[in-house]
Amino acid sequence: MEAIFDYFETIPSLHRALIIVGGLTFFWLLEGIMPLFGKPYKKWKHAVPNIFFTLTTILVNLPLAFFLLKTSDWVAANNFGILNWLPEIPLWLYTIIGLFLMDFVGAYLPHLVEHKVKPLWMVHLVHHTDHNVDTTTANRHHPLESVIRYVFTLVGVLVIGTPIALVMLYQSLSVVATQFNHANIKLPKKLDDILSYVIVSPDMHKVHHHYRLPYTDSNYGNIFSVWDRLCGTFMKLDPEKIVYGVDVFPDEKKNGHIGELLKQPFQKYDKPTMDADT
Ligand SMILES: [Zn+2]
Repeated sequence: MEAIFDYFETIPSLHRALIIVGGLTFFWLLEGIMPLFGKPYKKWKHAVPNIFFTLTTILVNLPLAFFLLKTSDWVAANNFGILNWLPEIPLWLYTIIGLFLMDFVGAYLPHLVEHKVKPLWMVHLVHHTDHNVDTTTANRHHPLESVIRYVFTLVGVLVIGTPIALVMLYQSLSVVATQFNHANIKLPKKLDDILSYVIVSPDMHKVHHHYRLPYTDSNYGNIFSVWDRLCGTFMKLDPEKIVYGVDVFPDEKKNGHIGELLKQPFQKYDKPTMDADT
């Protein structure tokens, strides 16, 4: 456990990049073997804007990582934050509590807020206007969204008192978890069901990408599913019935065009409408 901590404390940027590329490649291959939706789409063409936004996400996060490190140093030096106020506990328990708290403050909460606050929804919209959700969709975030999420992560580190090793461990797990739950893969139903009690499973997250409410506003979880179950935002929908995208932004051509997507947050506010059969 301590060795893991030591590794993530000083994880080289190259290793972080390898996790992203390795995960994408692994799930991309798996999508070829066990696809959820077999309908053909141009996988490489579809990946272009998504890879572009993955790169902008990395670019935005690189310089900002400096402030994460500074904040993390500050909470450690001043014994500040929830983790520092806990009594002496084993490292494994400390790690689990830290990861769960980071998942709530740094991922679940900002995601929920992005769905409820109009201008933030318009920024997050870029992630939802993908008509073919697959593993490349995981990091399809407008650069402004990368900044918004970063601010929440920073607040999380401050409130939780997260050491930098735990921040890096969380972010690395988060990359792989989101690539997994966005991947166009079909797990055995029972396995997906069991997984969804602990982590956000592929079937669980796909519900969130349905083009209409109330499903769009459900299953906000990032790594762990407990927050949706606890906060009453957990929903189920038969994967067969899922239609990806946002019904009020149906232009598939625009939604696959980098320039249009960069401008998308500055269009008129529009939320998905309610599904007729719910
Ligand atoms: Zn969302």
